[in-house]
Amino acid sequence: GLFKGKADRQVESVCPYCGVGCQLTFNVKDDAIAWVDGREGPANASRLCVKGRYGFDYVANPQRLTKPLIRRDDVPKSASLPIDPANPYTHFREASWDEALDRAAGGLKAIREKHGGAGLAGFGSAKGSNEEAYLVQKLVRAGFGTNNVDHCTRLCHASSVAALMETIGSGAVTAGFREAENADVIVVIGANPTVNHPVAATFIKNAAKRGARLVVLDPRGQALTRHATHMLQFKPGSDVALLNAMMNVIVTEERFDRQYIDGFTEGFEALKASVAPFTPEAMSPICGIAPERIREVARLYAGAERAIIFWGMGVSQHTHGTDNARCLISLAMMCGQIGRPGTGLHPLRGQNNVQGASDAGLIPMFFPDYKSVEDTAVHARYREFWGDGLDPKKGLTVVEITDAIHAGTIRGVYIMGENPAMSDPDQHHTRSALEKLEHLVVQDIFLTETAAFADVVLPASAFPEKSGTFTNTNRQVQMGRQAIDPPGDARQDWWIVQELARRLDLGWDYAGPADVFAEMAQVMPSLANISWERLQREDSVTYPCPGPDQPGKGVIFGDGFPTASGRGRFVPTDILPPDEVPDAAFPLVLTTGRLLEHWHTGSMTRRASVLDAIEPDPHVHVNPDDLGRWGIAPGEQVRVATRRGAIELAARSDPNLPEGVVFIPFCFTEAAANFLTNPALDPFGKIPELKFSAARLERADEA
Ligand code: SF4
Repeated sequence: GLFKGKADRQVESVCPYCGVGCQLTFNVKDDAIAWVDGREGPANASRLCVKGRYGFDYVANPQRLTKPLIRRDDVPKSASLPIDPANPYTHFREASWDEALDRAAGGLKAIREKHGGAGLAGFGSAKGSNEEAYLVQKLVRAGFGTNNVDHCTRLCHASSVAALMETIGSGAVTAGFREAENADVIVVIGANPTVNHPVAATFIKNAAKRGARLVVLDPRGQALTRHATHMLQFKPGSDVALLNAMMNVIVTEERFDRQYIDGFTEGFEALKASVAPFTPEAMSPICGIAPERIREVARLYAGAERAIIFWGMGVSQHTHGTDNARCLISLAMMCGQIGRPGTGLHPLRGQNNVQGASDAGLIPMFFPDYKSVEDTAVHARYREFWGDGLDPKKGLTVVEITDAIHAGTIRGVYIMGENPAMSDPDQHHTRSALEKLEHLVVQDIFLTETAAFADVVLPASAFPEKSGTFTNTNRQVQMGRQAIDPPGDARQDWWIVQELARRLDLGWDYAGPADVFAEMAQVMPSLANISWERLQREDSVTYPCPGPDQPGKGVIFGDGFPTASGRGRFVPTDILPPDEVPDAAFPLVLTTGRLLEHWHTGSMTRRASVLDAIEPDPHVHVNPDDLGRWGIAPGEQVRVATRRGAIELAARSDPNLPEGVVFIPFCFTEAAANFLTNPALDPFGKIPELKFSAARLERADEA
């Protein structure tokens, strides 16, 4: 139950769920978290959403892993799933830490010795701290000898980051989301913040109430629409058509900001020429929005004194995700809507620490702070820091690693806190890859669908059981503090990574996360003037930060960009169709995403009693007219199929869905949406097209 009364102690920390980074207080009674309160943090001003407030009792769930586990020799990996909830550990036997760590590291080392670093890969987690992310990528790079290290940013904003790096030289937001409070016009595209960034959404709603014009651009309707002056429900996958048409209007009507373009950008003439054919009339049939509406919104954005753009997975999770983001960046630059209060580009980062994990180098092409692994000078510096044996070539990304396992190149994988057996597209392909691995080590707090395939399972700590720093979507580095102890023999993640490193001949000797942070601060200029001690004192410091006693900069790039020329670069884009388009056999568009109550693959929130009680079962969301036309009643069991598989679940009537489009949350293991999704990748960000698959829906009892 939810205890309210006097706490034994109060621990000031942050929320473990989304990238908003709400500060909270864990109220601890009898060594357990009894309730949670919001705190006056820079991102949340004491506000919390349902996940932050009520989603904490997963830590005390009886399914927590409390002992290291080793796979039994007589259980084939093909029998890994489904997990029997009444008897989950039948594939494993309990082991001591020494035996489990020796077995885990021994298997990785044997592959390294026989096949070199290319035979190995590692996944870290955007749920872990900055220090954990840094240690995991260092272990893979220095210990495994490969850059095959990635995490769920590859399923999230990799395409946004690719576009931002290419155009303005920095992958993070140019302004925090509370700049919405200073904006006249707020554009939200391909994002559903009331569900996925709920506290950020409250500031957007407050701004709209104060008088800011709110423009929502999304194929699905959403709660924010109630506060919007404009809602353009464009056809799925037609973002580039819509955005190029808006830029065409701004160019044709000369509503661009010539002074800004001349002062801070390059390539405008080429962009101008490229958007010429994309007139609203020509694009209207493609995106499904009337030319006048496109003109109206383009004029509104260009005419604003201060306008800010927010975007999410609806922009990034496409084979043309990088192009989508390039368009948004061009739009902002041509109107001079960057670098001042109330303006900017804000990709709403999903996980609590996806920004920090990416900054810390948990990506295959970059060392920490986005330094290319293929740059010889950078490489030499890291050799000095981390030792010899570093791989001079960039590594493989999440979906590419799955393909390389099938190809027989990658034979051993270490996974810390990720759940590819739920999160990755085309689950038949992903799960058969996990099954095929010679050696799989999984470090997690529950026996996830991924851990079920492991040779060794290492029981780790939940968020409130450890201390560390976390970087939210606003570039605010924040201190998370340990409130309770891990259960049984579960250990702190930094300790587990260090023990593996030692067994892989790396002489690590960190005393704890503060030590790791100190090393990070030495190699990462972004952390200049942000020390562990300062974070203990102040709880939150934004990077970049100009001095040890000065606040960090919330709004950046008022005087140019960190590119070679110092200018932002316009990159023209063309219209590309989604990888597969609906046809007679698969006439619908399937899109996937999250629910307010559930987090990603559900490993935490499905085990949080309040949240799971609100949303206990999988549903496919369908437009009510479609349901009526097909003679399906809400609640009826249906089968949704794509070229990759089929799942059965109940139908839910949802007027936010346009006709011909269905939505399935990907958190339910009983009906895992990712059996259906398309693994086709954006060529730049290598992100799969999770937002668009051709699908069919029929009654479950139909043949
Ligand atoms: Fe946690 Fe995000 Fe909700 Fe804040 S908005 S309480 S960070 S899930």
